[in-house]
Amino acid sequence: MTTSSGNLAQKAVTETAIKIDNLNKWYGDHHVLKDVSLDISEGEIMVVCGPSGSGKSTLIRSLNHLEEYQEGVVSVFGQPLSRDRQSHKIIHQTMGMVFQNFNLFPHLTVLQNCTLGLTWLRKMSERDADKMAMRLLDRVGIAHLATRYPGQLSGGQQQRVAISRSLAMEPKIMLFDEPTSALDPEMVKEVLDVMIDLAKTGMTMVCVTHEMQFARQVADRVVFMADGEIIEVGPPEQVLVNPQWDRTREFLQHVL
Ligand code: ADP
Ligand code: MG
Repeated sequence: MTTSSGNLAQKAVTETAIKIDNLNKWYGDHHVLKDVSLDISEGEIMVVCGPSGSGKSTLIRSLNHLEEYQEGVVSVFGQPLSRDRQSHKIIHQTMGMVFQNFNLFPHLTVLQNCTLGLTWLRKMSERDADKMAMRLLDRVGIAHLATRYPGQLSGGQQQRVAISRSLAMEPKIMLFDEPTSALDPEMVKEVLDVMIDLAKTGMTMVCVTHEMQFARQVADRVVFMADGEIIEVGPPEQVLVNPQWDRTREFLQHVL
């Protein structure tokens, strides 16, 4: 087993990027997040794993208010978020998200998918937006696909477009919700390689994934969730090798 080479080891001073305080969420009377608290440092690579239905998506989607919650506070760089305009501005300026199913606009080309946010939200000129998007597409190895439509690409290529589109908005934090789960096995690596490169840039990353090799390679900490609770959190060499709880051990037997 290799030891973690996450970002934090190289960082002397760290600021809290995301602070989650006593988050509680219910769907009707189904309690799906139970008093979840967690601090994520700037530059930290956090991997979240756990069985299906344990609340991983609900948690990560609560961070950028794609989900509302009844109790608790999420703060980003010291700013507590609420439903007001100011909070939405902070979210748009600081956080990008990549989903399991890519969520690209099918009627726009690869390049247009990446420039839309820049020209509409950032009011960037088309020329500058094109330049920036092309640079990002090149970085993830798909500049040659700029004029294609998402439907003409493989899943791995579509996910790399989705990552480029997020990065175009220059986020400080990237959220990934099972970015490789919808991919054929042979395409998983090309997306993980992009995420590993991104991790090396010092980006703060929260990644829901069951790719434990990725976790071992880049995560600073791994969170194990079950039934809406954080059961265990710690460095990968602790949580993945010497889990303190039977539930973690049992889960890992299925994914390792
Ligand atoms: P995970 O991502 O770990 O698989 P989720 O966060 O998607 O888990 O779901 C957590 C729990 O919340 C599950 O029991 C799921 O069935 C429930 N849930 C998720 N979305 C909804 C919804 N829109 N309405 C009702 N229950 C939901
Ligand atoms: Mg999920």
